[in-house]
Parts: sequence; structure tokens; C-alpha cells
Amino acid sequence: MVVNVLCIVEDELMLYLLDQTPEQLQNWFTEHGFPAYRGRQVRNWVFKKRAASIDEMTDLSLSMRTQLAEYFSIWSTQIAAHQNADDGSEKLLLKLHDGESIECVLLRDDRHHRTVCISTQVGCSMGCVFCATGLDGVIRNLTTGEIIEQMLQLQRLLSVEERISNIVVMGMGEPLMNLDALMPALAAAASPDGLGIGVRRVTISTVGLPKGIRRLAEMDCPYHLAISLHAPDDEIRNRLVPANRSIGMDAILAAADEYFDRTGRRITFEYVLLAGVNDQPDHARRLVEFLHGRPALINLIPYNPVPDLPYHTPASAVTAEFVEIITRGGLTANIRYRKGDRIHAACGQLRRVKV
Ligand code: SAH
Ligand code: SF4
Repeated sequence: MVVNVLCIVEDELMLYLLDQTPEQLQNWFTEHGFPAYRGRQVRNWVFKKRAASIDEMTDLSLSMRTQLAEYFSIWSTQIAAHQNADDGSEKLLLKLHDGESIECVLLRDDRHHRTVCISTQVGCSMGCVFCATGLDGVIRNLTTGEIIEQMLQLQRLLSVEERISNIVVMGMGEPLMNLDALMPALAAAASPDGLGIGVRRVTISTVGLPKGIRRLAEMDCPYHLAISLHAPDDEIRNRLVPANRSIGMDAILAAADEYFDRTGRRITFEYVLLAGVNDQPDHARRLVEFLHGRPALINLIPYNPVPDLPYHTPASAVTAEFVEIITRGGLTANIRYRKGDRIHAACGQLRRVKV
């Protein structure tokens, strides 16, 4: 049997169940004298029936459960904090097996939508100057299991009538720096054995790494892509997003165009509005020029202030004028208020409060 991940759970060396591919799990069963389909049954318990422990898997014999529990741990994280907001969003701070922590959020958008926002890295190396996650750089990539576990921990907060409808990869970290772990996690989410959430209901938000965007396009799984632009030109973007200095906005746009051509999926551009920095009418006009002729959607995100950082949320009249200029320019703009401000919902904030 190929064993790729070991983690220490409660001081014992155990295999982390969520890091096993479906094939690896099936192999474990056959190697222990059980039929391979038992692997599917276990995944079904974890993904669909929201089992918290191997003990709950009552259609497996007691001896099978005992052996399984000797090898595997379903969970590798602990809930270090759980916050609820008035708007129905809930945020978890998860402590990882190595003592690091990450955040994930459940958003109740309306009666039907239950969106999970998940992280892909501990910290982030992109260094965006307004973002809490990037302040201390990147510590490590998350594993596939740690990405899946966020979805499952959030799913366990739902009532039996509720189910996850959408996934947004907009938590801590830069998803395109960890595609090798993210892709199998999203495949597990999409699988009928998993959460059954198809590619059309998954959004990956990226700072805009052309190589990663092309790699994603070639994978032929047309996820919705959101590119965090935040500026109408390289001069401003270089200041806000240091990673841009070696990339440049033209290269990002070329990769975005290729993604659209290949997948047919319209790209969303995210734009965090920072008072006095990138929110002026002239910025809006130049953004229209930059994106001209593209079927782009622009999500304007009023800044969610981070303690100790010198950036502010623009006044609502300024935001409204920005939207108007963009709409008059023929592009579509939405204002995305970040839900759950009171639970430190901007990525990376809760972790900083706690550590
Ligand atoms: N690294 C990816 C995904 C995580 S960040 C990316 O940058 O796209 C998700 C979104 O939240 C990005 O658009 C990011 O710029 C935005 N964001 C980060 N900090 C914010 C804050 N304090 N207020 C509002 N939006 C923020
Ligand atoms: Fe990283 Fe995204 Fe934060 Fe930039 S905004 S530092 S890319 S998590």
C-alpha cells in the first residue's frame, strides 16, 4: 500500500484518512482481507453522513471499525475558535496538527445558498499590503486532506435540512501556489461519493499567476476564476500587490483571456476599494479602459479594515460613483460587502487575533 501522509494525532502515528485517495483507501481494505467497496462506504460516512468518528460507521463490523481506528484518524484539526455573526455566517479557526492555524467560513447567503470559504495555505507569500494573511509571509501549503477537512468541519455546522451549495477558495493563501493539493480536494468535493458539488459552483480566487491560470485551463475542469486586480495600472498594482512587479497586468489579462477562450467561463475581477488609494473616478475610468471589450464582471469589495494597517474603507458615495463609472463604461459591477465583519471575516484576521 502506498502511504503518502503520516500525521501525529494525539501523540500516536496515524494515517490521515482525508489525505488518502479513494484508491488508497480501497487498497487498505483489500490488503486487510476486506472487500474494496468498504472504502467507498467509509467515504460515504465521512462526506455524506457527516460522521464524526469511525465508531459511528455502524454498517461496518466491529472488528473492521476497530482495525480502521487503529490506522486512521478522520480529523487532523481541532476547532480553536467558533464565531457566529448576526447574518448567519460562521467562522472556524482550526488548529492544525503542527500547531499552525487556518480559517474557514460558512456563509448563509439566502434561503438556499450555503457557501464554504476555504484556505489553501498557512499564510501567503504574495505580500499584498492591505491583507492580514500575507503579513507574516507563508508558512506552508495545506495538504489535500486539510483542505477537505475545512469543508467537512463547516458542513457539520449545517442543520440536516441544509447542504453545501457552493465553494469559494478565497480564504488564506494563494490557491495557484498549491494546485497539487487543491485539485484533488475539489475533485473529492465534486465526486458523487463526496459532496457532489460540481465545477460550476466552485470559484477559485487568485492574485493572478499566469502560469497557474494556464495550468488550470489545461486541466479541463472549468472552475469559475476570480482574479484579484485591485488597480487600473501597474504603477498602483505594484504598490498594493508586490508580486505584480515580476508579472505585470498585461500578462495576467492575456492568461485570463486564454482561460475564457478555453473554458467559456466569464472571469470575475476583484477590486478591493481602499480609500484615497485606488477608489477615485480616474481609477474607475482607467479600469474600464484596461478591461475594455471583455465580458468581465467586476466585484468591488469595500476594504475590511485590518488593525495596524493604514488603509480605510471608502465612503459609500465614493463607492457608488466608482460603480456608476464602470457601469457606464459597459462593464458589469457588483459591490460585495464582506459578510461577517464582526467575526473578523476578512481572510487571516481571526488567526492574527488568536496567535
Ligand atoms: N490569494 C487569493 C485568495 C485569497 S484572498 C487572492 O488574493 O485572490 C480573497 C480576496 O479577499 C482577495 O480579492 C483579496 O484581495 C481580498 N482581501 C484580502 N484582505 C482583504 C480585506 N482586508 N478587505 C477586503 N478584502 C480583502
Ligand atoms: Fe495572499 Fe490573497 Fe492576501 Fe494577497 S490578498 S496576501 S494573494 S491571501
